[in-house]
Amino acid sequence: MEQSGDVGGQWLYDPGTDGRVPSSVYACLRLLSPREAMGFSDFEFLPRAGAGRDPRRFPGHREVHSYLRDFCHAFGLMDAVRLNTRVLRVAIADPTSAATRQWAVRSVRRLGGTEDDAREEEEVFDAVVVATGQYSQPMLPSGIEGMAEWRLRQLHSHSYRTPEPFRGEAVVVVGCRDSGKDIALDLCRVAREVHLAASSEAAAPTPAVSKMLANHGDVLRLHPRVRRLHADGRVWFEDGSSVVADTVIYCTGYGYSFPFLDTGGAVTVGDGDCVVGPLFEHVFPPSLAPSLSFVGVPRKVLLPWFFEAQARWVAQALSGRRALPPEAEMLRAVEEHFRAREAAGEPRKHTHHYIGGIDYGDLTPMEDWKKELVLSSMASMSDDLETFRDRADDSENVRKGVRRWRGGLAAQAQDKTVAAAAEVEGDWQAMAKKERNSSTELNCTSSSISEGMFNVLTSHLN
Ligand SMILES: Cc1cc2nc3c(=O)[nH]c(=O)nc-3n(C[C@H](O)[C@H](O)[C@H](O)COP(=O)(O)OP(=O)(O)OC[C@H]3O[C@@H](n4cnc5c(N)ncnc54)[C@H](O)[C@@H]3O)c2cc1C
Repeated sequence: MEQSGDVGGQWLYDPGTDGRVPSSVYACLRLLSPREAMGFSDFEFLPRAGAGRDPRRFPGHREVHSYLRDFCHAFGLMDAVRLNTRVLRVAIADPTSAATRQWAVRSVRRLGGTEDDAREEEEVFDAVVVATGQYSQPMLPSGIEGMAEWRLRQLHSHSYRTPEPFRGEAVVVVGCRDSGKDIALDLCRVAREVHLAASSEAAAPTPAVSKMLANHGDVLRLHPRVRRLHADGRVWFEDGSSVVADTVIYCTGYGYSFPFLDTGGAVTVGDGDCVVGPLFEHVFPPSLAPSLSFVGVPRKVLLPWFFEAQARWVAQALSGRRALPPEAEMLRAVEEHFRAREAAGEPRKHTHHYIGGIDYGDLTPMEDWKKELVLSSMASMSDDLETFRDRADDSENVRKGVRRWRGGLAAQAQDKTVAAAAEVEGDWQAMAKKERNSSTELNCTSSSISEGMFNVLTSHLN
């Protein structure tokens, strides 16, 4: 069930900015991760010919959307997706029956895609997989005084699309992670002044931020954390300095939110909307497993590799091919995870960050050249954010790997021919089913990225 009119999730760019738009993607967004490492294991993210396609290694967001659509069509998934269908409530169907747990799911479907013509219905299902993403619920900073009194424009990056509305303005960008830096650079093209506020960066800018400042020194300034907003437009920073601004943009991240989910307290969101739990291996709530599961909760992990592995595990648990440990054991594992993170000095709100060492199993390992490409891309990104996507300095190992990978184009072209032939014969469904079965067989080799490499990859991701 998908509330939007198309598949794609975050990658379904929406120029609208009202609070109900799920996507936080802005117009200039290009991938941070190389496409070679961003495909699902049974459907590579190869460059494709065609109008509107973007063959670059780090393509714009529309190319990811096209890829996801290609994926759905190749596996016949669109038959299973109900578009324009928003889930309103998920609750245990009969709380008095512990023997057979089922879920009552209430949803509203916009017929013809409009709000005026909507039909609400409730159905009962054996299982629910929550995969509603983690980039739609803006998180605002708590430590800035005067936000309520500020009369000028303030918005979260969730609602930022293009720099044009800020032409000629002085803009303060709060937060210096990926979106903060991206949006600051985008604004530099049209704004009068861009003030990037970032506590740690201001003390010791990374090479990438230093280069940004050197390249855009006429417009861009770096400041420490924002302390106070004043109603007259003055913004005060922690070091006592201030600027007069027209707009403040908060690039301060997102919280988890499952407003439709009623588990009677078995699953909660806490620690400032940063922790969902209890979740065994960040997927299954022990008391409701396997009929309730979550795919896509972890942060700062290798994507989509990690979420694909989770999805496969859920499919195996639901189809009975892989058993879960008893409830008490799962709960113990969750508590152990909390204790270990605490002992390592990790704040509780980072519970779902950088979680290496989990073996979800059953996923083809990432080839060496791809790992090398991911790591070298990250190193280039931390060196120069503005040029890393267009560098051409692959090692011989990566060049060879890319050549082999692109060779797969021929195979895909062949698949396409087969698909077209099957369609002509009116046998598309049968072919998609066959394709699904054979890809399952192909991917049943149990292996994973080695833990050491995984940790290296993930810790470099952000
Ligand atoms: C600005 C930005 C830049 C990013 N850059 C990269 C990058 O370079 N590389 C990378 O790998 N990842 C990147 N990501 C992360 C990437 O977008 C996510 O990891 C990915 O979209 C996760 O997919 P998902 O299906 O879990 O969630 P989403 O893509 O968020 O999809 C969730 C879906 O659930 C739907 N939904 C929510 N609630 C309901 C409901 N009640 N009823 C019905 N449907 C509902 C939403 O409409 C949405 O379609 C970026 C994210 C953002 C925001």
